[in-house]
Amino acid sequence: MTYRDLNTPLRTIMTPGPVEVDPRVLRAMSTPIVGQFDPAFTTIMNEVMEMLRHLFQTKNKWAFPVDGTSRSGIEAMLCSVIEPGDKVLVPIFGRFGYLLTEICERYGAEVHTLECEWGTVFDQKVIIDEVRRISPKITAIVHGETSTGCMQPLDQIGAACRELDCLLIVDAVATTGGTPVKVDEWFIDGLIAGTQKCLSVPSGMAPITFNDRVEKVINARKKVERGISTDEDRIREQQLNHSFIKSNYFDLSMLQDYWGPRRLNHHTEATSMLYALREGLRILLEEGLDARFNRHLHHERALIAGIEAMGLALYGNRECKLPMVTCVTVPAGVEPESVRSMLLHEFGIEIASSFGPLHGKIWRIGSMGYSCRKENILFVLGALEAVLIRHGAKVETGKALQAALDVYQEKI
Ligand SMILES: *Cc1c(COP(=O)(O)O)cnc(C)c1O
Repeated sequence: MTYRDLNTPLRTIMTPGPVEVDPRVLRAMSTPIVGQFDPAFTTIMNEVMEMLRHLFQTKNKWAFPVDGTSRSGIEAMLCSVIEPGDKVLVPIFGRFGYLLTEICERYGAEVHTLECEWGTVFDQKVIIDEVRRISPKITAIVHGETSTGCMQPLDQIGAACRELDCLLIVDAVATTGGTPVKVDEWFIDGLIAGTQKCLSVPSGMAPITFNDRVEKVINARKKVERGISTDEDRIREQQLNHSFIKSNYFDLSMLQDYWGPRRLNHHTEATSMLYALREGLRILLEEGLDARFNRHLHHERALIAGIEAMGLALYGNRECKLPMVTCVTVPAGVEPESVRSMLLHEFGIEIASSFGPLHGKIWRIGSMGYSCRKENILFVLGALEAVLIRHGAKVETGKALQAALDVYQEKI
């Protein structure tokens, strides 16, 4: 039996992930494999750790990827710190807050949630008051909610958590590499990023970082590996009294020993994905963090100008808008999935729908990483206008591209 050559269409991907991958990253992925303890490879591991520290703006010793999609990083972080019965506070302002809640529950946490209306975020004081009231061991929160296009300010919560002896763990999967994520300045104890969003690397790794406060909890829960344990280890393990970390694959104490100087064997590192991540980070650092964040803001401004000139309404509170996800309210009488389908099949453009209460009400247009380019913004605006006209929507015609071009031609 024979199958045709792999031949995927070339798409313009304007979703909140996965996004287009820089051709340099795709080339790096075809680099020959080397063994995971080959010095040529351990050098690459060390370089990736160093570049991740720059990206996260941290002096943390630990910054490395977990193999698996972003939720593997979230799960590794949470399962390594949560002991059954621990109180965890999860402020929820969209779908990914429920994911954090669910993972915490699976590992036996007593989860306390706070909710606010979708399309908005929390006043940080509300969260801090709740931390004070319930004294959780951990507060776990999303930074950029791709489901609602909102970004939670985090510059005050961490300092308060530190004072109240609570660990702050942040899902910055959508924001890392697109907008500032200041791990040390914001007193974030553990943070998870993603590859397939603003880093423009394929999905399949989750870069994380954590500080010595998290490390202390993890080390106290370290399970002794059979076969290499000493008597002393075994006594300590008995004292652990079943509070050891319950996952092997996601045990951060083992991942530390693998990524750190001990280089103890754990999983087989995802060689080609690490090449990809290294190249994605190298591109990012060549561009510069500030230049990259400004690029995301600049294209966001052009996209918004075009959407509004067409007469469409944005969804969500503008003050907390996530720069790399623009949510557009579906105009009355328009079938949202038919618009998406025509964009894909006639123009090769993918935009996203949404989840739960927002499904069918908004489209989400992503402008992340390598997808966040002038030609993509202009293309999606022109195509959306054409498709909406074909669907009988009342839109201002001929204005969107002009408004976006005005933004691009402004003097800087
Ligand atoms: C995309 C996303 C995730 C999940 O990432 P996967 O790679 O699909 O596991 C988690 N949190 C947020 C905020 C995201 O945007």
